[in-house]
Amino acid sequence: MLTPNLSVNAQGHLCIGGADCVTLAEQHGTPLYVMDENMIRQNCRSYQDVLNSECSSGGLICYASKAFSCKEIYRIVDSEGLGTDVVSGGELYTALKAGMPAEKIVFHGNSKSNNELEFAVQSGVGRIVCDNLPELARLNAVAAAQGKVVSVMLRVKPGIDAHTHDFIQTGKIDSKFGFALETGEAEEAVLAATGYANLKLVGLHCHIGSQILDTEPFAEAARVMVRFMDSLREKHAIVLPELNLGGGPGIKYIEADDPKPFGEVIRAILKAMHETCVTLSYPEPFVLFEPGRSIVGGAGLTLYTVMAKKQIPNVRTYVLVDGGMNDNPRYALYQAEYTAVCANRADQPQTERVTLGGKCCESGDLLGENMPLQAVEPDDIVAVLTTGAYNYSMASHYNRNPNAEVVMVADGEPRTIIRRESYEDIIRNDV
Ligand SMILES: *Cc1c(COP(=O)(O)O)cnc(C)c1O
Repeated sequence: MLTPNLSVNAQGHLCIGGADCVTLAEQHGTPLYVMDENMIRQNCRSYQDVLNSECSSGGLICYASKAFSCKEIYRIVDSEGLGTDVVSGGELYTALKAGMPAEKIVFHGNSKSNNELEFAVQSGVGRIVCDNLPELARLNAVAAAQGKVVSVMLRVKPGIDAHTHDFIQTGKIDSKFGFALETGEAEEAVLAATGYANLKLVGLHCHIGSQILDTEPFAEAARVMVRFMDSLREKHAIVLPELNLGGGPGIKYIEADDPKPFGEVIRAILKAMHETCVTLSYPEPFVLFEPGRSIVGGAGLTLYTVMAKKQIPNVRTYVLVDGGMNDNPRYALYQAEYTAVCANRADQPQTERVTLGGKCCESGDLLGENMPLQAVEPDDIVAVLTTGAYNYSMASHYNRNPNAEVVMVADGEPRTIIRRESYEDIIRNDV
């Protein structure tokens, strides 16, 4: 099985975290997102343990909650000692409502509204990561109006080629995020930030991309950032105490993916940071990481019911399911690959190659093409694996499909953490 929390029971049914997926589909309906709490906690610990044991200057792992945001996930990561990163007022509101301490929240975004900045400052979030010069000015005005001084970091584009898909590569110069290092823009932003009375520049941030399977791009980003911090000290006598190295560690979506264990990724980053600091005699910064996908991605799967199968001779076989791009837009967006398993025939060989089609009125509404699958029939349950990140959080109401339910499994026991939307929910704000 793709991830260690998946198994096949005596009835030939797929199980996640010890819970039978066919039973879950019967009891909760489909489409259904299922997440494994034990795996989420293990993923948190694989980062936390290395940070605790190998980082003398201290640090904070902030779960990047855009991967999956709801009250329960904030409670879980908080109880594991993590903070969180939010990118909107909505995520911030959810995190605060779940009891996440404001000082452990990092507020991101390349185009935050004034309302969001006011909300963030009012809530007392620990750090606000600024993306552009107008935002610095607006944030300073918001902080001044509330009589506060807020801790800010600046998002820097370190120019790292992270060997990943162009769409989700954000550390290069052609990106809408942050200040470029090589053009002098980042240095200018540091000087600008230090000039505002109601902003306290505490450090720098970079995020080089996502689904990165190698450790070296992260290590290189750490070196580049420490060297830049050292140059600020040399030229301007500015010593920044914090460095936020973003998220991005990749996970196993298909058998061919071979991600490094998360502990190894963070170890490589800390080592690169430490060595560069020693070489330059730079004081080791307090370090932040923001893993999102790697905390929740592998811990989730989505269950669908097969509605129909269309075999088009010499062309392809479509297996049509009762969900689609409305609950998982990632294939439609950037051809993200997934593994599928027939949950009620998980003990049978995958003898077919199919296109998994969704229910939305859009030809591009596919969950995958050329996917190995058991010989399924209508009413079978198909599981698409590794959907814990960027699925529920990216869901839409296209075709006015209500959002699916999310069930959390702990030690084989399921509990609903997000209820299925009703038609009444769908028209709630219609006038
Ligand atoms: C998306 C994002 C993350 C999380 O990325 P993952 O690939 O999910 O780990 C972290 N930090 C920032 C700033 C991001 O934009």
